[in-house]
Amino acid sequence: MKRAKQPVRILLLGGTGEANALARRIAGDGRFAPTLSLAGRTSNPVTPDLPLRIGGFGGVQGLRDYIVEHQIGVVIDATHPFAAVISANAIAACKLAAVPLIALERPPWQPETGDLWHSFATVEEAIDALPKMPRRIFSGLGRLSLDALARAPQHHYIIRVIDRIAKPDALPHATIVAARGPFRADDDLLLFATLGIDIVLAKNSGGDAAYSKIAAARRRGIPVMMIARPHSPPRTMFATVDEVWADIEHHHAPPTERGV
Ligand code: NAP
Repeated sequence: MKRAKQPVRILLLGGTGEANALARRIAGDGRFAPTLSLAGRTSNPVTPDLPLRIGGFGGVQGLRDYIVEHQIGVVIDATHPFAAVISANAIAACKLAAVPLIALERPPWQPETGDLWHSFATVEEAIDALPKMPRRIFSGLGRLSLDALARAPQHHYIIRVIDRIAKPDALPHATIVAARGPFRADDDLLLFATLGIDIVLAKNSGGDAAYSKIAAARRRGIPVMMIARPHSPPRTMFATVDEVWADIEHHHAPPTERGV
């Protein structure tokens, strides 16, 4: 009779819809024991029903120690493509702990016919390139980019964030819209028309959940100031949940052993 060995412990670095989907997939298979890790940026994260840890590890060494102490067999980096620090830390920590690392990174969006994209390497570059005259600008850049918006405080920013925040003093004409994705293009089109949006600020996040603003901008014929992704370091990488799952099953499932 074949008997399964102990489940392989998987540390899943999350903060994305794909990480949640992958966590559910892994948790449904008794050969694996996943723990989902979040940075703790949002107050009420929507997460699957499985072991969860929240908060930073304390840099590379802290992450390495966590991996060793919890006998993690595989680390999956399914963080957002703009979360460059944790991705670099995961590479270094897995090397120190001699544990395999797999990354899930959705492909970036590509411009389509009708898109009016202007590409920038950083948020700051994009803000500095905005017109000098006040405009009505939709920001899908998230809460962490508020300081950058203050480089051009004359604009009326409509800032979409997950958790409601107070209007920053440095942005006297801002409107905060607290909403949790995924969003629909029809709804964003209506929002842009109602608020008279004439420029969209976006990170090239890829995926479906945040694409609505890009599709709405195309349909409305307004420009998108698109922030390119940070450098993606070399590592074993897949573009979809299905691909990661196939690799996990194929390469990281515990071997079965002969019993009585
Ligand atoms: P970051 O700059 O790469 O990471 C900053 C620090 O946050 C890391 O050094 C680490 O702290 C902690 N951290 C990040 N992700 C973590 C995780 N999954 N579990 C435990 N600790 C984590 O990340 P960020 O851009 O601030 O993003 C934070 C989280 O939000 C990420 O998990 C990401 O998936 C999610 N997110 C980010 C964006 C974005 O645009 N950046 C958008 C949507 C979602 P220690 O060094 O102490 O370990």
